[in-house]
Amino acid sequence: MRYVIAVGGNAFRNGKVLNKLSYRIAALKRRGHEIVVTHGNGPQVGNLALHEKKNLAVLTKETQAVMGAAIKKSLIYVDREAGLEAKVVCTHVVVDKDDDEFVNPTKPIGEFCSRKEAERLARKGFVMKRLLKGYRRVVPSPMPLRIVELNKIRELLHEGRIAIAVGGGGAAVTSSGHGFKYADAVIDKDLASSLLAVNLKADRLFILTNVDGVYLGYHTRRARLLRRIDASSLRRTAATEHFESGSMMPKVRACIDFVSKTGKRAVIGNLLKADNVFELKGATVIVPRT
Ligand code: ADP
Ligand code: MG
Repeated sequence: MRYVIAVGGNAFRNGKVLNKLSYRIAALKRRGHEIVVTHGNGPQVGNLALHEKKNLAVLTKETQAVMGAAIKKSLIYVDREAGLEAKVVCTHVVVDKDDDEFVNPTKPIGEFCSRKEAERLARKGFVMKRLLKGYRRVVPSPMPLRIVELNKIRELLHEGRIAIAVGGGGAAVTSSGHGFKYADAVIDKDLASSLLAVNLKADRLFILTNVDGVYLGYHTRRARLLRRIDASSLRRTAATEHFESGSMMPKVRACIDFVSKTGKRAVIGNLLKADNVFELKGATVIVPRT
């Protein structure tokens, strides 16, 4: 089977967590599955942007190199052969220069901060937003439309390698004449991973994050993990439930899109329990129909 595995930025806070995940990924590979690993870069690109005045697409490419290398190193540590054959693809993703996100940015990047720090950063020209757990900078996160290096990723899978691609959602570019122009934006990795999974005709999309899955009534005393739901019911639920924009909402949208376009299953689960998640246990499984 062909798997696209999207890893949240939290995996990179701790080497042990990344190694544990790599061990599971290498095990899937040994069982003969084709694997693409994608990852987020919200905290990392936000930190870089505090010190470097470069365009966010350029900074995303820097995070692709560093974080991709960390995944590869961790794979080598747990399974030398699989790790050495893994390859990082520096990926560009085309977006529309007229995407509404360039006017109304929604994607949180960097660390959470206090109100005072948020006010200081706002004076620097950053757009700051109050979220459930504190303040964060938000940046444009346009819809991913086309993955430039798609064929390269496909070739790696045919060669039996693990592809590490679309890091940080890919470096956002807009079409300009015969070429591309870097965009000052950070694409959501969940939406980019779903686009990749659809394009690759993947059999399954896994989104690994820091919660067990999608909760109904999240942040209330009646919070309940949604275990299994079909794509159209989830679409209806998303219209009424609180799925935070920029965090849970893009995961939900990514899964609905993948499942309805491919008729395959998508899973949102806890990266610390990846062994169970890969078995479709203890997580939210989105199915084509009930
Ligand atoms: P990642 O780096 O893995 O993409 P995010 O922070 O973007 O992680 O998304 C995961 C977060 O989504 C959780 O930590 C949680 O705070 C938030 N969240 C918002 N709404 C929900 C919900 N309904 N169910 C579960 N988590 C939710
Ligand atoms: Mg996220």
